[in-house]
Amino acid sequence: MKVVLKCIDCGEEFQPGAFYRCEKCSGLLDVIPDIAELNVSRELFDSRLGSREFPYSSGVWRFREMIHPLVEKRDIVSRAEGNTRLYRHEKVSAYTGIRDIVLKHEGENPSGSFKDRGMSPGISEAKRLGMEIVACASTGNTSASMAAYASLAGIRSVVFIPEGMIAFGKLSQALAYGAHVLQIKGNFDRAMALVQESSMEFGMYILNSINPWRIEGQKSIIFELIQQLEWNPPDWIVVPAGNLGNSSAFGKALMELKELELIDKVPRIASVQATGANPFYKMWKGKKDELDAVDKPETIATAIKIGNPISWKKAMRAIKFSSGVVEEVSDQEIMDAKAIIDSSGIGCEPASAASVAGAKKLLDTGVIDSKEKVVCIITGNVLKDPDATINYHLGKLKGIHPKFQNKPTVIDADLESVRKAVLG
Ligand SMILES: *Cc1c(COP(=O)(O)O)cnc(C)c1O
Ligand SMILES: [Zn+2]
Repeated sequence: MKVVLKCIDCGEEFQPGAFYRCEKCSGLLDVIPDIAELNVSRELFDSRLGSREFPYSSGVWRFREMIHPLVEKRDIVSRAEGNTRLYRHEKVSAYTGIRDIVLKHEGENPSGSFKDRGMSPGISEAKRLGMEIVACASTGNTSASMAAYASLAGIRSVVFIPEGMIAFGKLSQALAYGAHVLQIKGNFDRAMALVQESSMEFGMYILNSINPWRIEGQKSIIFELIQQLEWNPPDWIVVPAGNLGNSSAFGKALMELKELELIDKVPRIASVQATGANPFYKMWKGKKDELDAVDKPETIATAIKIGNPISWKKAMRAIKFSSGVVEEVSDQEIMDAKAIIDSSGIGCEPASAASVAGAKKLLDTGVIDSKEKVVCIITGNVLKDPDATINYHLGKLKGIHPKFQNKPTVIDADLESVRKAVLG
């Protein structure tokens, strides 16, 4: 099987190795397998559903040929990630005004976010290349995922975390799974730059989404989703957008499915940013050719608090290919949508709710029609950021007025007080 890393700007091709940019023009790289040689079909992927056989029990490796056709079974590091469920709820339909709205819950992955889908092939590639240290900059979930997969593989991991800007659940995971945590005195964008500067120097393999194997793994969200829908694509796929790895992966997945004729219609991608961290939205809205970074990104949704997203070119390709759109939503909209998802019994972290908030806004502005089928990607688990949830319900978030508040009631320890509290 021939696989090359191809520059998205100048088209130069390279043999896979421990680098992330084109040697000639420093463009980002795509993994390009020889599609004609892949020999895949709906039947092949369906035959692996429910399999107990390693690695096909994974919702990533079920699509092995389209994720990492080079890696041998002995190098595959997998926790049977993926296999995440779809949810419908009357409350979510009523809130958004979209009857046929489905949530795909990526918070059900082993470390609690979709990052596991990219980390599994990423760490497998590190093993294949014989790398001894892996590294990433992270707003939290990438580090939690990398720490877990690196320890599983017996590889050292170093995470660069923006000081004081990461949700507690995520930081605790990175420490627990045994990563070497470096708290950078600077924001995410600075941490990202530092990882790139130091990786060459110290022989660390970068596992941010600048690494093209991360993107390959995250394509499986789309493969799995469309398989779950009996290979009938929805009209829209709505995804929260930070560093833009996921938006990029979704576009690449759809291009490949179309090329292989595994789908006959391309769903439209809607990437949703937070208003305080919206460089991609501004670029799309202003029909610009280049991205202008946001200097001081600000949002309660820390997973998308990114001012200078690395994958903007790949993501713009995805939006164009799918006739997609880019939207922005405020922290107020994010937290209210989260409260709806949470109180439906589904639950998610703040950034994830940008998808549902975005779908609502796109319906309200007439971009999405109420009769269309819409899938919102729920990117992370409700336990990732308990502070945001609790402070919302206590009404303690600055600038946010909770529409769906659920405060604990303090009562005296007697029957009469319980009666009053419960029966009103
Ligand atoms: C990483 C992450 C995002 C943002 O995804 P990008 O690929 O960086 O655009 C959104 N939500 C959660 C929970 C994440 O962990
Ligand atoms: Zn190039």
